[in-house]
Amino acid sequence: INSKLPNVSTTIFTVMSQMANSYNAINLSQGFPNFEAHPKLIELVSQAMQKGYNQYAPMPGLPSLRSIIAEKTSALYGYDYHPESEVTITSGATQAIFTIISAFVAPGDEVIIFKPAYDSYEPSIELFGGTVIPVQLSAPDFTINWEEVASKITKKTKMVIINTPHNPSGTVLSKNDMLQLEKLLKGTDIILLSDEVYEHIIFDQQKHESASKYPGLAERAFITASFGKTFHTTGWKMGYCLAPTVLMQEFRKVHQFNVFCSNHPIQFALAEYLKTPENYLSLSDFYQQKRDLFLSLIKDSRFSYTPASGTYFQLLDYSDITNEADVDFAERLTKEHGIASIPVSVFNLDQKDDHVLRFCFAKTEDTLKRAAEILCEV
Ligand code: PMP
Ligand code: GLN
Repeated sequence: INSKLPNVSTTIFTVMSQMANSYNAINLSQGFPNFEAHPKLIELVSQAMQKGYNQYAPMPGLPSLRSIIAEKTSALYGYDYHPESEVTITSGATQAIFTIISAFVAPGDEVIIFKPAYDSYEPSIELFGGTVIPVQLSAPDFTINWEEVASKITKKTKMVIINTPHNPSGTVLSKNDMLQLEKLLKGTDIILLSDEVYEHIIFDQQKHESASKYPGLAERAFITASFGKTFHTTGWKMGYCLAPTVLMQEFRKVHQFNVFCSNHPIQFALAEYLKTPENYLSLSDFYQQKRDLFLSLIKDSRFSYTPASGTYFQLLDYSDITNEADVDFAERLTKEHGIASIPVSVFNLDQKDDHVLRFCFAKTEDTLKRAAEILCEV
């Protein structure tokens, strides 16, 4: 077969979760909570099914859900998206990202991404004939060299993809970063894809710098969001995207033939649940406690780290333990020590000698304690 993605194999999340299951290891690899969503949210889904929300939703999403998302975005970031034409409900952020790329990227186009990058960006770009232009972020700060970004913008640049809070590093973009980006994109036709799925998981009193807060970015941006992260429901695959009308029209041309619409009863439940802002505003404190617990429990281990500023991932550097490549060490930790993680080099194919693994701390206290006991013995 003449593969369209000859260099792509099974995603690392599947590989590591399967390995964790086969070896009965604690799974801190693929990012998902091992505790339940709020019973009220589950009850709302069941109510929606009983009320008959069981057929197709409107193509762009349930109007009540789109309205409350527009209200939330306006309240948090001060940008008014029109619920009718500028908000679309998607089957997870992954579908939104894929649809955005497919609607705009054509052969010959260049797309700037920051590496390490979430694993879906690159194959999605390549599938539509785009060329990935990587900008490397380096541990431990993962800051962006904006002069380097400027030097990589050409007439062919179609899109720039940013992700804040950032998976896998747990770093966040600052106001200054956003202003630099705004300056760079001014006067161009470049589209910004701002992946903000961890917008509500940000620590130490920092503020999420949404692209929607910056007029010069918002006018050209798609923002992607995920209810999986925010409401502990990754298996529901529900999210949304925001963009100005002219961009969203193009998005919907593809969306309608990709999924047509997303899960209807869950949209009803989410619209109700979002009426209480505390349901998402409490998330940062919730995860900061988990981060702090996890880090306090491993402080005497041989791993070193900079505490994550956002997301539910913590990078741990194991240079003091072994020289092994991260893929090999992650495998050995799973098989011999019973703890699974994600080797960061897979997000970062140009730089294979990182001695860093990513651990997901969206876990119960008990799991974090058991995981830390193992990590302290490695
Ligand atoms: N972007 C990033 C940076 C992510 O970490 C994830 C989830 N792992 C996604 C997008 C996809 O989100 P969803 O599960 O809603 O498709
Ligand atoms: N976003 C999750 C992570 O980074 C996993 C998503 C997936 O399994 N595709 O771990």
